[in-house]
Amino acid sequence: MSDNKKLQFDSKTVHAGMGDYEFGPVVPPIYQTSTFKFESVEQGASLFKGEATGYIYTRLENPTIEAMENAIAELEGGHKALGCASGMAAISTIFFTLLKSGDHVVCSKFVYGPTLTLLQNILGKFGVESTFVDTEFPEEIEKAMRPNTKVVYVETPGNPTLAISDLEAASKIAHAYGALVVVDNTFMSPALQQPFKFGVDIILHSMTKFLNGHADVVAGIIIVKDEEMFQKMRKVLNQLGGVIDPFNSFLVHRGLKTLSVRMQKHCENAQIVAEYLENHPKVKWVRYPGLKSHPTYQVGLKQHNGTGGMIAFELKGGLKAGEVMMNSVKLCTLAVSLGGVESLIQHPASMTHFSMGEEARKNGGITNGLVRFSVGIENVKDIIEDLEQALAKIPKMEKAEA
Ligand SMILES: *Cc1c(COP(=O)(O)O)cnc(C)c1O
Repeated sequence: MSDNKKLQFDSKTVHAGMGDYEFGPVVPPIYQTSTFKFESVEQGASLFKGEATGYIYTRLENPTIEAMENAIAELEGGHKALGCASGMAAISTIFFTLLKSGDHVVCSKFVYGPTLTLLQNILGKFGVESTFVDTEFPEEIEKAMRPNTKVVYVETPGNPTLAISDLEAASKIAHAYGALVVVDNTFMSPALQQPFKFGVDIILHSMTKFLNGHADVVAGIIIVKDEEMFQKMRKVLNQLGGVIDPFNSFLVHRGLKTLSVRMQKHCENAQIVAEYLENHPKVKWVRYPGLKSHPTYQVGLKQHNGTGGMIAFELKGGLKAGEVMMNSVKLCTLAVSLGGVESLIQHPASMTHFSMGEEARKNGGITNGLVRFSVGIENVKDIIEDLEQALAKIPKMEKAEA
């Protein structure tokens, strides 16, 4: 295992996290057990004291979970990782570990919806204050910093507008104020973006998306850089209880083995689809990190090894056009979530972000004609043919709706 460090990233995705197991399996076995037998009172006691290595109880640690955690820690270039029941379990564990009443958080304004409401509604109730800024502009982060700011939370590319934030700049500012930088790396995965290289302190993922990649698991992960933070975070996770289970860990670890080839194909397809959409008469604008028209394209160039599978675009016909297009796609599945092998499309204004109301949507960059598209690994000709027929069903508008 130790010579894995010398391997290229795509080789690591295949081999990372493998341990030594009885009977010499080629992949980690699924230890589907809640608890582990002690050989004696003395052995049990030494496990609890942390003097012996071994397993006690699956909420604390389990070999199948540990294998997947080690794999992802290695891919992100971190020290250790903690598997969680969902992306939100990872995010809440991080906040409950790092924050206390009276602390302040600076958070990306273009962020996964439940992250924003967790900070506002739940942590707000416990006396944690949050300021939401457009982290695409480092000066906005700087302006929002206070003496009691403990965390700068950045999601890049952001949800759903694909705003790209400069992680190096964000880290410099946060560290100057003694705050930690937490990055949601879900949209890129370590195949395309490795935030630790830019000074970030903690990384998290919704593994539900690209890491697992097959739309059959809900899970999350936290990756840290040192043992002290690992122990701190682990205690809180064990006590809050939002841990992943062995079977989901096994599935994620299986998905990881194809991460590099999947991401390559996502990038290739999304680039072609983004260029196609940018030239389509019914599309007002397209945001994709691989398009030169992206406002922070240059930041992406220094931060990404590829431009990802997520596209946001605005239909000229607004809400109505969005509804028509969503009801007309055939190959692309009308569903929330992202990062699986299948193309998924959704219309935030009538779906995920409907309950926010129009004002709040506007503030978060969610216009009425905005479509979020997770480009799958199907043949790109089939994807474009499907978009073409769905866009053709949108009636010609007399005047474009705002
Ligand atoms: C889906 C998602 C989450 C939440 O993850 P769950 O696994 O659904 O809890 C967090 N951040 C981003 C960017 C996401 O896309």
